[in-house]
Amino acid sequence: MDRKIPTPLWRKTAEERDSTSVELPDRLVDLVVVGGGYTGLSTALHSAQKGLAVHLIESNHIGYGGSGRNVGLVNAGTWLSPTTVREKLGPSYGDRFIRQFSNSPSLVFDLIEKYQIQCELTKTGTIHAAHSLRGLKDLTERYQEWQRLGEPVELLSSDTTAKMVGTDIFFGGLHDHRAGTINPMGYCRGLARAATAAGVGITTGMQVTKLDRKDGSWTVTTSGGPLQTKAVVLGTNAYTDSLWPGLKKVFTTIHYVQFATKPMGEQASHILPGRQGLWDTGKIMFNIRKDAFGRLFVGTMGRVIGSIDKGLTKRWAQKRIFTAFPDLGNTCFEAAWHGKIAMTPSHLPSIHQLAPHLWTAIGYNGRGITTGTLLGSFMAELLTGSDPINLPFPLTGPKPAPLTGLQTRFYDMAFTAKQLWNSF
Ligand SMILES: Cc1cc2nc3c(=O)[nH]c(=O)nc-3n(C[C@H](O)[C@H](O)[C@H](O)COP(=O)(O)OP(=O)(O)OC[C@H]3O[C@@H](n4cnc5c(N)ncnc54)[C@H](O)[C@@H]3O)c2cc1C
Repeated sequence: MDRKIPTPLWRKTAEERDSTSVELPDRLVDLVVVGGGYTGLSTALHSAQKGLAVHLIESNHIGYGGSGRNVGLVNAGTWLSPTTVREKLGPSYGDRFIRQFSNSPSLVFDLIEKYQIQCELTKTGTIHAAHSLRGLKDLTERYQEWQRLGEPVELLSSDTTAKMVGTDIFFGGLHDHRAGTINPMGYCRGLARAATAAGVGITTGMQVTKLDRKDGSWTVTTSGGPLQTKAVVLGTNAYTDSLWPGLKKVFTTIHYVQFATKPMGEQASHILPGRQGLWDTGKIMFNIRKDAFGRLFVGTMGRVIGSIDKGLTKRWAQKRIFTAFPDLGNTCFEAAWHGKIAMTPSHLPSIHQLAPHLWTAIGYNGRGITTGTLLGSFMAELLTGSDPINLPFPLTGPKPAPLTGLQTRFYDMAFTAKQLWNSF
């Protein structure tokens, strides 16, 4: 069970409305999607557009998981450099992967444009900032790789980074012009609106508890009754429960925390004036961004320890803001929350076939806005007969990662220690 955690600010500030829950259909459908995040909604939307009768079931509300809790950085590519991706996947899959993930922010931007999704979209890029000279070396290598591939990335000097971010704590940065920022819950709810308009039925507040296959179809047992379907897609990712045996063992769960200030107005106008989202090269990463209303967000790996008023994470957030922007003085926080991220040993996302006509897309390693949207569209292709060979990675079965529970506990301790270290 997840501990009781505070509500993400995005739930309050998203302009898009939460979707209305409908009853389960009493007829056989083509597809049941489990999970109302980017993966589930993109799968549902793209499948309905291809003519499938789709029903989506979410145990909480739309965007309850990572999709309503994240930082909102719409990033291109993955954590791995293009060279590493090519080494891991081979030249054929690798080149396709690099091309498709490089273009993936456009897929998100196009959906936002097409469905007029209200989600505070910026297309001014993201900044990967060097927290050390070693970090700068890594960014320089990444820059050279993307340059060779003709992608629009720019290596920033420490002076330029300081001007763009409003602090001189970084050694330089990589400005990725393909990327942008969103209100993540706004985008998620907008996808739900688009999916509903395409004919998808969405039931929220209902948990899927069992899947049984008999006579060529699936019986989906839920807390609200059963449902018959030809195919099932699990879009449960880091919020996977015990629904499909062993699926939780495929990834290690890590937590990521966000603290948001109240709108800061003119006082913070020098911070990220171009509204790029930023994360740094630290192994225990640090991020900064602003929203459309002038709130400042800082975050790192770990959980909220305490609340917005007191406790370790509040001290950490205040200290990090003071170190980067000493002229801001005392900051007033409006929200704090954390969410779960699914990390896989390969650091690459996967689509697993779990049984006949049962798939999952999982393990985005903290980069899910583009990945979830893209893999949802791949899923719709698979469901309508596309050969898996067309994917940018091999379709695989789930492989348990070793010692995931132990790793989760180890990371939790390491992240707490780092918060403590950085809060003095
Ligand atoms: C704090 C944080 C910051 C992040 N920052 C970024 C970022 O800046 N950029 C980026 O690209 N990515 C980021 N990520 C990662 C990104 O949010 C995720 O990869 C992405 O949201 C995953 O989407 P999803 O649809 O696959 O899963 P989720 O959004 O997690 O959705 C899974 C859903 O499944 C539901 N569910 C689970 N089991 C059942 C069941 N049995 N029955 C019914 N429903 C069920 C859950 O309630 C949940 O709503 C961040 C993640 C976190 C937590």
